[in-house]
Amino acid sequence: MMAHKRLLLACGSRLVSQNGSFSTSAMAHKSYKLVVVGGGAGGCATAAKFSSKLGAGNVAVIEPADTHYYQPMWTLVGGGMKRLEESGRPMSQVLPKKADWIKQRVVTFDPHKNKVITQDGQEISYEFLVVALGIQLNYNQIKGLPDAFETPGVCSNYSPLYVTKTLESLKNFKEGNALFSFPNTPVKCAGAPQKIMYISDQYLHKHGKRDKANIQYFTSLPVIFGIKKYADALWEVVKERNITVNLRHNLIEVKPDSREAVFQNLENPDDLKTIKYEMLHVTPPMSSPDPLRQCAALTNETGYLNVNKHTLQHVTFPNVFGIGDCTSVPTSKTAAAVAGQFGVMQRNLRLAMGGTSPKHQYDGYTSCPLVTGYSKCILAEFDMDGNPLETFPINQAKERRTMFHLKKDMMPTMYWNGMLKGYWEGPKYLRKLMHLGMK
Ligand SMILES: Cc1cc2nc3c(=O)[nH]c(=O)nc-3n(C[C@H](O)[C@H](O)[C@H](O)COP(=O)(O)OP(=O)(O)OC[C@H]3O[C@@H](n4cnc5c(N)ncnc54)[C@H](O)[C@@H]3O)c2cc1C
Repeated sequence: MMAHKRLLLACGSRLVSQNGSFSTSAMAHKSYKLVVVGGGAGGCATAAKFSSKLGAGNVAVIEPADTHYYQPMWTLVGGGMKRLEESGRPMSQVLPKKADWIKQRVVTFDPHKNKVITQDGQEISYEFLVVALGIQLNYNQIKGLPDAFETPGVCSNYSPLYVTKTLESLKNFKEGNALFSFPNTPVKCAGAPQKIMYISDQYLHKHGKRDKANIQYFTSLPVIFGIKKYADALWEVVKERNITVNLRHNLIEVKPDSREAVFQNLENPDDLKTIKYEMLHVTPPMSSPDPLRQCAALTNETGYLNVNKHTLQHVTFPNVFGIGDCTSVPTSKTAAAVAGQFGVMQRNLRLAMGGTSPKHQYDGYTSCPLVTGYSKCILAEFDMDGNPLETFPINQAKERRTMFHLKKDMMPTMYWNGMLKGYWEGPKYLRKLMHLGMK
């Protein structure tokens, strides 16, 4: 038996069935009722829901990674409140048992022929497709990166490769500038670039180094945060903590030898500011993933999956749906948004499978727990028009300990046990209950 398995592996096993059996390229042209591309937050929830409804053999998830990460935890990992290992679980454990896991990277979409092609050349056909590819990190678009991550003081909570360097940089901080960047592209969790700044401020305080640190935020945006209610609260926080905010400034180069960062003034592109750093936290430029961007039939002018922002059905191919960071939905890209989208998308996909038009509508719900230290958090929740859409009948723009514990202690459990299993669709019903049916 062992020899048999070894032989299959040596032949290049490609399809790992969740019940433990292995298949090879003999199944290179498989066809499924539903193919889910990407096994992250949105893909895993979708596969769980539909593999349980449609039964074994009908749903495939195409996902290359060995580890599934709960990325929102990386803010806490960077600040030393959680360990990196706590944020990840083996992909084999989180993907549903009844779905076939094709452990490959999709390289080509062919929506006219209802198939995708994987890196090893498999053609996977589908009746329905859900695209859940997430967003691509482009560190290499900043001159000097990613090499500068090998040098002291340069860190990034956005990647499991660099997140542990954040705490290391704080521990080693002696004196000088602590710089935090926000790029000139859409990003996932637009609050994360500044959450780590507030945590760093508190860390340096706690360790008696704050008076030796000049903390500066460099953001490409013209505002500190996109929603006025929370932006007003954050301006108070930065003022109170003596943090300098530089709007419309984009990190374009890191010079590790001289420990300098170069920022471009987006209002006057010839104006470059070179600043010494003791610590530099980088949020990378991001884009739609390459294989998706390269398929013009599926994408809009910015390269994201072109879906109806309310039904999440593709605007041209009715058998294609999208969820999460890779879509054109004009809301802030978060796991909370994925949860809200999931409830709508899975209902509409079921209707489409039954030959009916989608009728459920996504309101753009998204949320960003703006952690401002080791015990406080502003829980921003809003819709795609920028209106606050808060769950609790209290002012959520206030820094609160309760919201911090919700973020740190409760949300991970909701993610692993609710969302990834296809049970969590966001706080819509809780919000109604909390507001006595008025919201
Ligand atoms: C530092 C940080 C802090 C955050 N904080 C919060 C927060 O507080 N609250 C919140 O709600 N959200 C937060 N987020 C955002 C949240 O993690 C994402 O919005 C969410 O994971 C998006 O889910 P998704 O399914 O769209 O993409 P992902 O979960 O990123 O999954 C995409 C999957 O696609 C796979 N994939 C990529 N390319 C291919 C390919 N070619 N073929 C097949 N598969 C592929 C990837 O391996 C991955 O598993 C944070 C993110 C970060 C990085």
